[in-house]
Amino acid sequence: MRITKNDTDESFRQDVREFLESSLTEELREAGRKKTSIWQEPESAAAWQDILYKKGWLVPDWPEAYGGTNWSLTQRYIFAQECARYDTPGIAPMGLKMCGPMLIGYGTEEQKAHYLPRILSGEDIWCQGYSEPGAGSDLASLKTAAVSDGDDYIVNGTKIWTSFAQHANMIFALVRTSSEGKVQQGISFLLIDMASPGITVKPIINLEGSHELNQVFFDNVRVPKANRVGKENDGWSVAKYLLQFERFSMSSIELRRLLSRMRSMAEEANDAGIALAQSADFRSKMDALEIDCEAIEVSEQRVLAQLDAGETPGTVSSVLNAISSETLQRADELALEVCAYYGMVYQPEALEVAGAAPVGPESYLPLMPSFLNNRMRTIAGGSAEVQRNIVAKAILQL
Ligand SMILES: Cc1cc2nc3c(=O)[nH]c(=O)nc-3n(C[C@H](O)[C@H](O)[C@H](O)COP(=O)(O)OP(=O)(O)OC[C@H]3O[C@@H](n4cnc5c(N)ncnc54)[C@H](O)[C@@H]3O)c2cc1C
Repeated sequence: MRITKNDTDESFRQDVREFLESSLTEELREAGRKKTSIWQEPESAAAWQDILYKKGWLVPDWPEAYGGTNWSLTQRYIFAQECARYDTPGIAPMGLKMCGPMLIGYGTEEQKAHYLPRILSGEDIWCQGYSEPGAGSDLASLKTAAVSDGDDYIVNGTKIWTSFAQHANMIFALVRTSSEGKVQQGISFLLIDMASPGITVKPIINLEGSHELNQVFFDNVRVPKANRVGKENDGWSVAKYLLQFERFSMSSIELRRLLSRMRSMAEEANDAGIALAQSADFRSKMDALEIDCEAIEVSEQRVLAQLDAGETPGTVSSVLNAISSETLQRADELALEVCAYYGMVYQPEALEVAGAAPVGPESYLPLMPSFLNNRMRTIAGGSAEVQRNIVAKAILQL
């Protein structure tokens, strides 16, 4: 399946451009330009979410009945492309891209009625409590325990690598409710209020010096059973369902944006006095990346079409996740060649909105932190090795 465009789509593109021109402030665009991670700082993310929410364009992928836009696949692609072109800030992904779609598929009517509007309005910001020390790739070995106590569970244990937990007021978590049978069968899926007594969040500072990661501790935390999604001990099915939303993202758009920036930066002489666009070696690396980007784009469109038809893309998400993460990392490496010595300057103050003046060109500023931050792409959400294992088993039947 290949997305094709017609005149109506081009007029839709104009509408999107007009909306972006009129609604994006210079601060929001600056925040988008300086974004170096999946995560945007909360102020710009909330401001942009609010604008999209009021326009009704916040969750194009959700069914219309729950706030979706009822756009065609092409229109969704055009919207994402234009957002990238206009440097829109990111929005908090865990609720809008993962928890919301999961609740639409698996939540009770009460859970949907309560949580979905709060996700859309930004009242609830979610984080994901899956990984534990000793349970990452082998997630099913998780030990955080939820013991039944009347209408509640009492939760004890710890979650690690919990992105943006310091800004979240809700966490969706996998907990152990039984030690009998296969490990996958004793897991339940809980929605937990981060303000519950007994929860502590401790920061973990990452490679490029920012605070995105945390360890979350649960000490006798009381969680109502009404906050369980799916049946008791069947949380693994919910987690697998949610994972296909987590593993799929339109990475080609981000990649294409980086490649087009690199092409124009490479036209200018860098601080070593070299315009890399003149180098045959550089051009051949760029061309190889463009070809890979094209292949990823087509594959993403196939997955989108499957999701749209209510089908489960399953293992293809794993292939795409591994390939697009590795391609983005290759592009990051080449981007550092473009900025030469300036790529080495550590300047977090200049990355803030209205922050200090950068050393070197502003366009170089996000490239080194992005390079460092994107090392996580082949780990988070399932490492590249684990994705390959899935492909080997499910597609190659090895
Ligand atoms: C930036 C970042 C953000 C994250 N955010 C979250 C979050 O918000 N919530 C959350 O729950 N988790 C989060 N994670 C955790 C992430 O899901 C885990 O890091 C990931 O699943 C890998 O688990 P691990 O770190 O325990 O590594 P391990 O599982 O210990 O793996 C270590 C190494 O061994 C390899 N390996 C392991 N098993 C196999 C195998 N069977 N075959 C071949 N190789 C194997 C891995 O590929 C890896 O290279 C985040 C991680 C990162 C880096």
